[in-house]
Amino acid sequence: MRTVEEHQRVVAGLIERRPPVRLPISETLGLTLAEDIVAPLSLPGFDNSAMDGYAVMAEDAAGASEDRPVLLPVVEDIPAGRTDPLVLQPGTAHRIMTGAPLPRGATAVVPVEATNAATDTVAIRAAARPGQHVRTAGEDVTAGTTVLRSGVALTPAALGLAAALGLGELSVIPRHRVLVMSTGTELVAPGMPLQPGQIYESNAVMLAAAIREAGGEVVASPMTGDDVDAFRDTLGRYAGEADLVITTGGVSAGAYEVVKDALGAGGVEFTKVAMQPGMPQGAGRVGGTPVVTLPGNPVSALVSFEVFLRVPLRAAMGVVQPERPRRNAVLTEDLTSPRGKRQFRRGVFDPGTGEVTSYGPPASHHLRWLASANCLLEIPEDVSELPAGSRVDIWDLS
Ligand code: AMP
Ligand code: MG
Repeated sequence: MRTVEEHQRVVAGLIERRPPVRLPISETLGLTLAEDIVAPLSLPGFDNSAMDGYAVMAEDAAGASEDRPVLLPVVEDIPAGRTDPLVLQPGTAHRIMTGAPLPRGATAVVPVEATNAATDTVAIRAAARPGQHVRTAGEDVTAGTTVLRSGVALTPAALGLAAALGLGELSVIPRHRVLVMSTGTELVAPGMPLQPGQIYESNAVMLAAAIREAGGEVVASPMTGDDVDAFRDTLGRYAGEADLVITTGGVSAGAYEVVKDALGAGGVEFTKVAMQPGMPQGAGRVGGTPVVTLPGNPVSALVSFEVFLRVPLRAAMGVVQPERPRRNAVLTEDLTSPRGKRQFRRGVFDPGTGEVTSYGPPASHHLRWLASANCLLEIPEDVSELPAGSRVDIWDLS
């Protein structure tokens, strides 16, 4: 049997970063920037008003007060977006709105609240200081400055900055395109009627969601019966569009193991990994496309995704810390674990007390417990009994 780490290395070796692409900025949230962004212009791009009020020469209103207002004729009205160049003459004021360009010669903005708000002759009731309420060109960003480095994750604020600099497209590491295939003649799509002996398909929607949550793109998530030809047809139809194929089911030791039967003679190696759940695994390439085959039990499938796929997928998309946060927690109960296998149990971690309680039985079909868990407990191969009060490593899924 392979160790968890050995199979992790095999899977990670298959998943490669795609070359950068240029995408419209609106499609880049969460992606990794693949270029340094050097500001092509300054922010603000021109001196402008920080308030609604009056542009003046500060010295003209330096002596203004509530008792002795300064009266100035208002000779221009400058809303935001006015583009013609204006010059302020001494002894006059221009009415100006927030974000409007400051007229040449103006050195201060008097907020409308400190005036009578007039449009003919304004009465200024507070002393003006040079520079007040003026946003100076370049005070935020100077043209030529590197404002975002290649490798950062694009957050809403980063997109705002790039847009403010006029960038309509960004060079990014694109999403990994993943084909999810679930197999099993017993499977029926949710929403359809169920016959005796059939079950609802749950791996495809679950793994597709996990892939999207990890930043990937799902090419398709088709389901096939345990029929080798149907499986190969479906794979052939979609594989060309995918950077990675993930299958579930059909890889254990039974008689109708469609994934093994369809891919075993080719470039996919089927193996056992010393872990519970998730022992039967496979990995390789079909026609050059990486294929990772996960077991069919839903808990095994999702735990396998966590253990083998999530980290390399995120790393391939440039995520700097692709791993789940790990913690060490105090166990609230006695647990047993199979010797020689790494056990991943579902659990609930209480950050207040630092305690973790395992959730549900270790069996690989108990989805309900997985759905309510906020962590995975990782119990090493050489541990078979863990008494209450022991320390255990957990993966924070929250
Ligand atoms: P297999 O690995 O194909 O032998 O499947 C193992 C168990 O998981 C069986 O009980 C299957 O019915 C179940 N199973 C396999 N694939 C799925 C799926 N996509 N959705 C729900 N259960 C599944
Ligand atoms: Mg099956």
